[in-house]
Amino acid sequence: MSQTPFSNLKLQTNLLENLSSLSYEMMTPIQAKSLPYILAGKDVIAQSQTGSGKTAAFGLGLLEKLNVQKLHVQALVLCPTRELADQVAKELRRLARTIANVKILTLCGGMPMRAQLSSLEYGAHIIVGTPGRIEDHLNRGSLDVNSLQTLVLDEADRMLEMGFQSALDAIVKHTPSQRQTLLFSATFQTQIKSIAKRMMQEPVMVQVASTHDNQSIEQHFYQVDDGDEARLQAIRLLLLQYKPESAVIFCNTKRETEDVAHALIYEGFSALALNGDLEQRDRDQVMVRFANKSISILVATDVAARGLDIDGLDVVINYELAHDPEIHVHRIGRTGRAGKQGVACTLFSLRDDYKMTVLGDYLERDIGAEALPSSELLKEPALKAAMTTLQIGGGKKQKLRPGDILGALTAGKDITGKQVGKIHVMDQWAYVAVSRDVSKLALKKMGDGKLKGRSFRVRVI
Ligand code: AMP
Repeated sequence: MSQTPFSNLKLQTNLLENLSSLSYEMMTPIQAKSLPYILAGKDVIAQSQTGSGKTAAFGLGLLEKLNVQKLHVQALVLCPTRELADQVAKELRRLARTIANVKILTLCGGMPMRAQLSSLEYGAHIIVGTPGRIEDHLNRGSLDVNSLQTLVLDEADRMLEMGFQSALDAIVKHTPSQRQTLLFSATFQTQIKSIAKRMMQEPVMVQVASTHDNQSIEQHFYQVDDGDEARLQAIRLLLLQYKPESAVIFCNTKRETEDVAHALIYEGFSALALNGDLEQRDRDQVMVRFANKSISILVATDVAARGLDIDGLDVVINYELAHDPEIHVHRIGRTGRAGKQGVACTLFSLRDDYKMTVLGDYLERDIGAEALPSSELLKEPALKAAMTTLQIGGGKKQKLRPGDILGALTAGKDITGKQVGKIHVMDQWAYVAVSRDVSKLALKKMGDGKLKGRSFRVRVI
């Protein structure tokens, strides 16, 4: 699939000029597929992920229709979380910066009501918010969506997962039936289909074109300067953008795995290197910590990652292009498994010209470089893994079982079962993951208490 420029679309000149000043020249795949329908006023269901450019896809649609002279709510964007709502509002403001006097307001739960009420009195054209709070405002009468033209459900699958179904239904009841509804979701379970059926009219479905290898993997390519500094910065940006719970970064040499892991740890990420130099015991430990979510990023060579048996990788990043296209496909095939949508990001430099051509032929597609996320993201703190691992100096040989460990941790009820993660019992050792915020308490309880009537050495690793 070749890339399409925004100039192919029927967009207002000031929007087009702004896109070009933002260096958005070519549409991302989801934009190229959805925008023609969105601009034609159709209801659209789009399969998309954060980072796919979905915000601009619906953002351009609603901005194109906006009449700034009329100060009433013309578009409502519903998001699962405040973070996403803030992100969406920020991107909409960027896209709208050549339209004078556009008022974009965020209305999210957890924020003071009073400030929202007084902002609403000044009026707004576009509202971005979380379903609970929006429903609240509608019930109070502080928000009026009678003149709404566009309703956007962003990350609809996550909103349903978070229990917003009834709020969504209630909100829709307040909106005019003659509206355009756009639904963005990473997955399409039955619940999404049923919500689409209730809320949308003859929706068009768009999915990003698959590579010939795997439909559930969204591939991104980024051109970087030569040298480690540019690559490391790109990796940080991608990690901050995607915030993966579990990611693997592939390197071509052992030395690189060490260097990249060190650099990421230095920046505050929960990362470790996995390479052939590790002793078996250390390797097991790395695997356990990655599987139990105490480490979110593994930096690995192809060989070392071979035995990695993990279904839930959110993101695979190629720090360097693989030497061979088959290895590339093998690497990225570790994400997007078990019915989940995966993301694969590949860095390349001008030096990789030939390898990129070979890869493009192999994947049967034109590979276009995308812009890296904005370097503003570097100001954000690195995401720490949710869990911490405790190592217990006893295992199967001492007849320890997972239930004993869980029981010891949750006795006294100051630690709940939910705060305890995976438990691995090996021959001489056991590992248990606990939520990072109770790790000290867990360590103390395990250290002071007894398991099977005896004390074991326990430490945080
Ligand atoms: P989103 O998936 O909407 O969160 O967008 C991901 C990132 O891609 C954002 O930082 C956008 O600013 C950027 N972006 C969106 N569309 C394009 C495009 N066509 N060209 C370059 N960057 C884009």
